[in-house]
Amino acid sequence: MQMLVLGAGQLARMMALVATPLDIHIRAYDVNSEQVLHPVTGERYEQNLTQAIEASDRITAEFEHVPADVLALCEQSGKFFPGRKAIECGGDRAKEKALLDGAGVPSAPYVLVTEHRHLEQAISDLGLPLVIKTCQAGYDGKGQWRLKSTDQADDIWQEMKAFLDKDATHSIICEKMIPFDREVSVIGARDAQGNVKVYPVTENEHTNGVLTLSVAGIVNKNIQAQAVDAYNKVAKALDYVGVLAIEFFEVEGELLVNEIAPRVHNSGHWTQQGAFCCQFENHVRAVAGLPLGSTDLMQPSAMINVLGQDAIPQQVLATPGVRSHWYGKTVKPGRKMGHINVSANSLYELGERLSELQAHLSEQDYPGIKARAQQLK
Ligand code: ATP
Ligand code: MG
Ligand code: MG
Repeated sequence: MQMLVLGAGQLARMMALVATPLDIHIRAYDVNSEQVLHPVTGERYEQNLTQAIEASDRITAEFEHVPADVLALCEQSGKFFPGRKAIECGGDRAKEKALLDGAGVPSAPYVLVTEHRHLEQAISDLGLPLVIKTCQAGYDGKGQWRLKSTDQADDIWQEMKAFLDKDATHSIICEKMIPFDREVSVIGARDAQGNVKVYPVTENEHTNGVLTLSVAGIVNKNIQAQAVDAYNKVAKALDYVGVLAIEFFEVEGELLVNEIAPRVHNSGHWTQQGAFCCQFENHVRAVAGLPLGSTDLMQPSAMINVLGQDAIPQQVLATPGVRSHWYGKTVKPGRKMGHINVSANSLYELGERLSELQAHLSEQDYPGIKARAQQLK
């Protein structure tokens, strides 16, 4: 089977790495260079998008900011999963909020902004501080503002206005700043028959808006049940096929959705060794029409993102239970270059292994490992 992935980054690459044993062959379409390439070797194929669609049995995406004309072509082919609506809901926060409200899934209170008076309304209705996000762009915390006091409002409005004026379809969302106890996410897969399998909820730490550390196997049954309930509602509302991720804020034992990602997700990378069938394989299986694999936890696991660096000390890879995954990208400050997965037989042992790793990885570049290790032990 031939599968085309929209986007040629690390997520397409990791899909390709697990698709080969299934005898599924993946090509990636880079929407920026408009080239079709092999997501692992980078080899270029003499194909344009139309030819690549034609030559593929199935099409999927590794990101949600896919240009509208590309989405339309893929949708028309009848081979595209999870399909245009799901990708659009993930790529536009206004559509995403409408989906969540319609599905009865609680999320952070919000006001949509296209004019100045909406910002004033947000300040009076939601109160300060506010998290303000562009609806149609943004990832890794980019395209966001924090409004903490009213004297910042004029300056922030000028920047918001510049974004709104760029394109008539642009909008901005103001959200109440949620005083969360922690951030968690749920990753799961749904097949074309509506069967759903969900991984154990993952606890996530962000630094400057970017995921730095995920840990799986530490969330209680009540939180898992809330996450699965939200997952089922959202996946059903989208008639979803593939892997879908939902990010939450946990506040006093209750989950509020932060956002959805209609794709495999950074907070699910630990499944490459902590679960029987990883998120990449389950996505490929669902899109290909194959049965889903087990999402059960095999071992408590953690994932550490490698940001802005193209090497790690050898001792890291020598630590028991550790594997590294590199994306083959050119180094840029803060760029996601790879990740480290670590698994253990118990949470205590995971804590010990994180302590061992922490001795070789600086707190500045790899924040949170030390505190997490202490908490687990
Ligand atoms: P990505 O898609 O890479 O996960 P993003 O750019 O879509 O990131 P969000 O997930 O919306 O950004 O926000 C990034 C981080 O900012 C969140 O993980 C959370 O730590 C913080 N944040 C976002 N919205 C809120 C909110 N309403 N209240 C409190 N914190 C928030
Ligand atoms: Mg996002
Ligand atoms: Mg996010």
